[in-house]
Amino acid sequence: MTQSNPSLGIRQLLDLQKQAFIAQGPVSAELRVQRLQQVIDMLVECKDALCEAMGEDFGGRPAVFSLANDILGSLSSLKHARDHFRDWMGDSERPSVKPFDMFGATAWVKYQPKGVIGIIGTWNAPLFTLLSPLACAFAAGNRAVLKTSEIAPRTAQVLADAVARRFDPQVLAVVQGGPEVAAEFSGQPWDHLVFTGSTAVGKLIMAAAAKNLVPVTLELGGKSPVLVGNSADVANAAERIAVGKALNSGQLCVAPDVVWVHESRLQALAEAIAARYREMYPTVSGNADMTPVVNERHHARVSAYVNDAKARGVTVVEVGSAAAGVDRRLPLALVIDPPPEAEISRHEIFGPAMVLRSFQDIREAVAAINEGERPLALYYFGSDEAEQNWVLDHSLSGGVSINDVVMHPALEDAPFGGVGASGMGHYHGREGFLEFSHARSVYKAGNHDPRREWGMLPPYNAQFEQM
Ligand code: NAD
Repeated sequence: MTQSNPSLGIRQLLDLQKQAFIAQGPVSAELRVQRLQQVIDMLVECKDALCEAMGEDFGGRPAVFSLANDILGSLSSLKHARDHFRDWMGDSERPSVKPFDMFGATAWVKYQPKGVIGIIGTWNAPLFTLLSPLACAFAAGNRAVLKTSEIAPRTAQVLADAVARRFDPQVLAVVQGGPEVAAEFSGQPWDHLVFTGSTAVGKLIMAAAAKNLVPVTLELGGKSPVLVGNSADVANAAERIAVGKALNSGQLCVAPDVVWVHESRLQALAEAIAARYREMYPTVSGNADMTPVVNERHHARVSAYVNDAKARGVTVVEVGSAAAGVDRRLPLALVIDPPPEAEISRHEIFGPAMVLRSFQDIREAVAAINEGERPLALYYFGSDEAEQNWVLDHSLSGGVSINDVVMHPALEDAPFGGVGASGMGHYHGREGFLEFSHARSVYKAGNHDPRREWGMLPPYNAQFEQM
């Protein structure tokens, strides 16, 4: 294990931060702004080194994407939290304190920082998955320890060095390492634990957290579906789906995974997606605009899903071809109506492949989606508002984008999170602030307590019953 403060273990960092948190008492708005601003300044100062590191970790991820997704995405969360948390942090008066108002009582809810937040990030968005939740954690007045992903080690090191230069480890620290470090990390008595990663590992993290009754925010994955209604413009839907799928070569938790469309329009949609993808990426191997698959294991995994479908006789449209042994860039594979038992039907793809499925009636597609695990994102294309509302009312997912894909997680003022197998809890906006705050109910008694004269206290008499 390495970290920004190599002499301190995970438990020592937690204890250090907890003691400092208790010793400090209330965390002023000014101090919260100062901490958020420190992270903002750090990101601005280190953006080139961080983008370079992300590029190297992926074996050639375009700096434009790293800048947009991880640097600007994190800055957006940090600035939004900095500029709005004062609207969220004030006490909430509860004037309706019946029946205690009879006693002259008042009540309010006070939002207090929980204390020390552990945040475990992933490699596909190695800064965003740490710093976007951190924005809400700091806004709520907490301290934090970040655990980076072992699959993005260069980014982890640049971040750890930058944090160590700018922050006292009593406030913010970075821990690096693989699954064994993550296991140790998730077994600590944090005041709250955030995990971003796969559903399978999320279960291990929640089980470890349960041993200490640590509340968790789980930002997991799943097979995010797209529904292309009959009222949708196929060219527009294809444009948005192709562009959204191209981001990070599909290595995005909200990447479109399965696209549902009426059987009469499936071929046109597949051709339009392929044409738009080819326009963005006329070549595959060596194309500096295309993000490679992050490592050999994931390259083999995505390739195996596609090869399994081919071996089953499923139609697969590959948009371009990769030269063997050059790099880990893969062409987009459109896999048409694979059977449920195919590998690609059973697993989150998380790479440059996508399933296209046909329906005769969109309600069949919604029924099929509802039979599976609840997805992180759901997308609907169409101009038919009645159908749009029907889809929204009859499905459940972490979030939704309409007539686009991948966009809603960028909303800073709306909660980002999953439901069911795609996770629990949120960050972003007021809901994110609340996630990392303890909502503490306060009751203040009035000067006069009438319970005795009303006969509500022993020794009881019939007086109260007669009232
Ligand atoms: P992962 O679950 O393999 O790893 C994530 C983290 O868990 C890493 O820090 C890793 O060190 C740790 N880890 C791995 N194995 C572990 C174990 N056995 N015990 C304890 N910790 C362990 O996920 P990944 O491959 O890094 O990321 C891909 C997944 O993350 C996809 O499912 C994707 O959808 C999801 N994701 C979700 C979001 C979101 O916001 N909901 C964002 C990005 C990625």
